Amino acid sequence: MPNQMPINHLNHSKKPHLILVPLMAQGHMIPMVDLACLLAGAGALVTFITTPVNAARIRPVIRRIESSGLPVQFVELCFPAVEAGLPAGCENIDLIPSPDLFKTFMESLSLLGPQLKLHLAAASSAPPPDCIIFDSLNSWASTVAKELGVPHLMFYGPSCFYILCSLLLKKNQVLKTIADDFELFPVPGLPEPVEVMKAQVSRWMDRPGWEKISEEFYAAEDSAQGIIMNSFEELESSALELYRKEKGKKIWPVGPLSLYNKDAESQATRGNASSVDTQLLVNWLDSKEPNSVMFVSFGSLARNPFSQLVEIGHGLKSALSSLPSLSFIWVVKEAEKGDGAKKWMSEFEAEIKGRGMVIQGWAPQELILTHAAVGGFMTHCGWNSTLEALATGVVMATWPRFGDQFLNEKLVVDVLNVGVAVGAKVPTLFVDEMSEEAQVKGEKVRKAVVEVMDGGKEGEARRRRAGELKEKARTATEEGGSSSENLKDIIRFAYSRK
Ligand code: UDP
Repeated sequence: MPNQMPINHLNHSKKPHLILVPLMAQGHMIPMVDLACLLAGAGALVTFITTPVNAARIRPVIRRIESSGLPVQFVELCFPAVEAGLPAGCENIDLIPSPDLFKTFMESLSLLGPQLKLHLAAASSAPPPDCIIFDSLNSWASTVAKELGVPHLMFYGPSCFYILCSLLLKKNQVLKTIADDFELFPVPGLPEPVEVMKAQVSRWMDRPGWEKISEEFYAAEDSAQGIIMNSFEELESSALELYRKEKGKKIWPVGPLSLYNKDAESQATRGNASSVDTQLLVNWLDSKEPNSVMFVSFGSLARNPFSQLVEIGHGLKSALSSLPSLSFIWVVKEAEKGDGAKKWMSEFEAEIKGRGMVIQGWAPQELILTHAAVGGFMTHCGWNSTLEALATGVVMATWPRFGDQFLNEKLVVDVLNVGVAVGAKVPTLFVDEMSEEAQVKGEKVRKAVVEVMDGGKEGEARRRRAGELKEKARTATEEGGSSSENLKDIIRFAYSRK
């Protein structure tokens, strides 16, 4: 039976009861936690579905939300990892030990379906669900909603630009006609011309062998009564307009969801526990000039092999020589630190002391990006990271790895003009070892850092545009702003289904 944490405030039977079902990956859970708080703050009762391993990882977040008094309850369903053929405790995409188990993991998510159904039917302390909001990759939850006769909305994690491009490429059957993986061709039907490469925009779920998952995904997208996105109208107005026309249903961008975290504590506790003392980190940032620090981090999944870590290190070190005012923070994951890397890393840290900080593990990214000293972000272009940079007016050095990230790079560099491409061309599936041809040399890293931090007139114009987008993002989430109004509309939708 699911372990339901005690909570009293779900007794308000007049409020709509929304069930949030995030994908078990940090990049999907983090924005959905923010969404849960926003919906609860806007008048809903929220149940957030998770599993024991994931709940343990976000325990500080759960405590923070519980003590805030917001009506959000966290319900842990038991994920039968071993039964599914996964190692015990493998309850999050970042815990998948080898590439061949990714498909097993994605297929086994539906094992949560019967438990969710049981929980929703049996929960005696909570009113019946009025709406299920499921992550786009949790199509199994839309099946539960249909079986229970509950309205359901899809939550799309990526940018509308990516979702629209994928739709246009599929609808026009473009990829079948392209022989060369690295030939540039235009995405048909976009208002502004954008050229892409097949290798960079092919969806993993459209590959042979993934037909069932892919069919269920598209069926869930069709059956959802509406789609919620982590974006905002003013950022992607033309993509949203076209996507609404294509879908003919409600599309609600409610982001940037990261802006919901206003105080330093909530900015510092998102996802995993921070691997660094946040006060020491803030003191270090306080000692730096505005816009002088480059933040280097590649999200929760992308991994750099040792050879790539060395190139990044060389690039950052030579950027310090090129720009005397520059400092950097570089996040290196536990999984990236093989034996050779550990020794190399400690020597590197000694060499850059004072001007560079290496965070080994999990960084409080939102807290870092909001600090005035941070002026650049070398990112893998995961949509959360991209949007967090846009929401804080930080210019990006873009280094996409997989999934939606190459199209997010196009949006940032070619459409919005607030980023500089590092020059990555060959994608890597996150759990695969990054191939030699996918790796990027240190000189490219140095060049991108210098261009972002000191790019002359064009650099100033980029920073100005980033500042304008930051303002627009803030306005969208304030009372009366587009995202805030869309959120109210979702609550109205839920009330109307009561
Ligand atoms: N993140 C963080 N600290 C880290 C790594 C990641 O806080 O050390 C957060 C980041 O702020 C973002 C999320 O994890 O909210 C990563 O999502 P994104 O879509 O950028 O990339 P993914 O991890 O899904 O590839």
